[in-house]
Amino acid sequence: MILILLGPPGAGKGTQAKLLSTELGIPHISTGDMFRDHKARGTEIGKQVQAIMDAGGLVTDDITNAMVKERLSRPDVAPGFILDGYPRTVVQAEYLDGLLRSLGRSIDRALSYEVAEELVVERISGRRSCPRCGAVYHVSANPPKRAGYCDRDDAELVQREDDKPENVRKRMQEYGTKTEPLKRYYRDRGELAEVEGVGTPEGILAATKKVLGR
Ligand code: AMP
Ligand code: ZN
Repeated sequence: MILILLGPPGAGKGTQAKLLSTELGIPHISTGDMFRDHKARGTEIGKQVQAIMDAGGLVTDDITNAMVKERLSRPDVAPGFILDGYPRTVVQAEYLDGLLRSLGRSIDRALSYEVAEELVVERISGRRSCPRCGAVYHVSANPPKRAGYCDRDDAELVQREDDKPENVRKRMQEYGTKTEPLKRYYRDRGELAEVEGVGTPEGILAATKKVLGR
């Protein structure tokens, strides 16, 4: 099964992608995580994308597409995969179609998580993550046992640079102008399914499985 997860920043795509990955036994591919990993390792790509990412802008289509192409050449994607945060522009969506066609594959569903803008801002502004293991928390909705520290390794939690209010505004803008048009793109092809992204992670997972007929 090949799934694409759409939705504004803070819609809970990452959380659902992880749950679905476990449930379906297929890899979770997050271009945001891949870029953050490049940044942390200080690779050439990491250096190229650092400033634009921190400011909440989108990385160029060329860099992003090349990274995804490489990822989809690995053997673990054979049973299917979940794309979280890609595609984010029509150019990327068209590129992905061509790439999948060349591999003799096609997407099964583009799931769009629908969440009101106020809620999204609330979710993002409370998000904290562990710089050591990547665990993600929320100050009120999913707090760590000891405020400010990771449950797993006790590292001090941080707020992502792009989760800071001024950068969140930029991300919402990018979403509205460049990514939201993808809903139309997938709807026209009969591949879009909208899921109400409000409630507990488990509740949203149940709604997702229903849409997938599982
Ligand atoms: P995310 O964790 O999905 O919100 O991604 C974090 C940041 O990585 C985004 O704000 C962009 O700067 C960059 N990024 C992730 N995926 C893409 C993509 N498909 N196209 C362009 N930039 C991306
Ligand atoms: Zn940790």
